[in-house]
Amino acid sequence: MRIHNFNAGPAALPLPVLEQVQRELLELPRGGMSVMELSHRSKEFEAIRDRAENGLRKLMGIPDDYTVLFLQGGASLQFSMIPMNLLGDGISADYIVHGSWGQKAFKEAQKEGNSRIAATTKEFDFKRVPHQSELDLDPNAKYVHLTTNETIEGVQWAEIPDTNGVPIVADMSSDILSYPLDFSKFGLIYAGAQKNIGPSGVTVVIIKNDWIEKKSGLATMLDYSTHAKDQSLFNTPNTFGIYMIALVCEYLEKLGGLDSLQLRAQQKSSMLYALIDSSSFYHGFAETESRSKMNVTFRLPNEELETKFVVEAVLAGFAGLKGHRSVGGIRASIYNAVETESVRELVSFMREFERLNG
Ligand SMILES: *Cc1c(COP(=O)(O)O)cnc(C)c1O
Repeated sequence: MRIHNFNAGPAALPLPVLEQVQRELLELPRGGMSVMELSHRSKEFEAIRDRAENGLRKLMGIPDDYTVLFLQGGASLQFSMIPMNLLGDGISADYIVHGSWGQKAFKEAQKEGNSRIAATTKEFDFKRVPHQSELDLDPNAKYVHLTTNETIEGVQWAEIPDTNGVPIVADMSSDILSYPLDFSKFGLIYAGAQKNIGPSGVTVVIIKNDWIEKKSGLATMLDYSTHAKDQSLFNTPNTFGIYMIALVCEYLEKLGGLDSLQLRAQQKSSMLYALIDSSSFYHGFAETESRSKMNVTFRLPNEELETKFVVEAVLAGFAGLKGHRSVGGIRASIYNAVETESVRELVSFMREFERLNG
């Protein structure tokens, strides 16, 4: 039996997509073999790669002057590849750090080039994003890096900040495809697929074309221009992952696209925040204005009750609610594929748990 899946990543995938994968696993429609047995150099696979790219382009409204890449190494490798490709002598980058992933991105950037912190909320335990007035931006920076949604803390930008025209590089691993974007602010967007796009093992990078340049001295595989030139087929990509991205995009399009997913995320997260706000038993981790619509983080009165909550939740059919070890508490990850019904059931479970233990 499939249970309510609140895993942070890898995470829930849409059931209709999994069923389609199951139907097509032994033999693709008119393909004669599994997608995992196809050559990545075949016409058939090229068509699948195109479907994944076009699916993302259509959903997100990606402009023509941006290239879509399907890479490996996770979002974590992008922490290094971005500064390796974009920085150089006399070129520096600004980092806005408001959570664990942004902190990691900055740490790697420091190894590769000149980078500075333009704002951090570390002294507030990463419970919120910085206010616009707290940003100390360098007008000459090549880019401003930020994490649109900090998965571990459950902290998200309600609005993308103004960077005075300096292009934003955004780690969107945990909230990509959950609201529409204005691409004119962004130079590069990246996301590990395993939260909102597909299975683990493939990373989506969307980069503006005039940032793709062959860089001398850089390892071939770490150079964006290598992958751009060969449409992500320079070496063997994660063919199965790319196939699933195509199916997920086609499914999300049928659900009504990003406007309707944004509304759904709003509705699902409000159900949980309304309960948290009306209770003195549950305490939200993030400050109200920075609350995430993808990862809802909260605490109970003590750690003993938190452990009990997680154990009883598992018995009641709810997986993945234990918070990240660095923050503790509870985290309900409610990505696109988590059904409203699962959230409703979780809210009932939480009410009952409070009644019995509060
Ligand atoms: C999960 C996550 C990562 C790490 O992704 P990997 O693909 O495991 O490297 C990075 N940034 C954010 C915001 C994440 O949620």
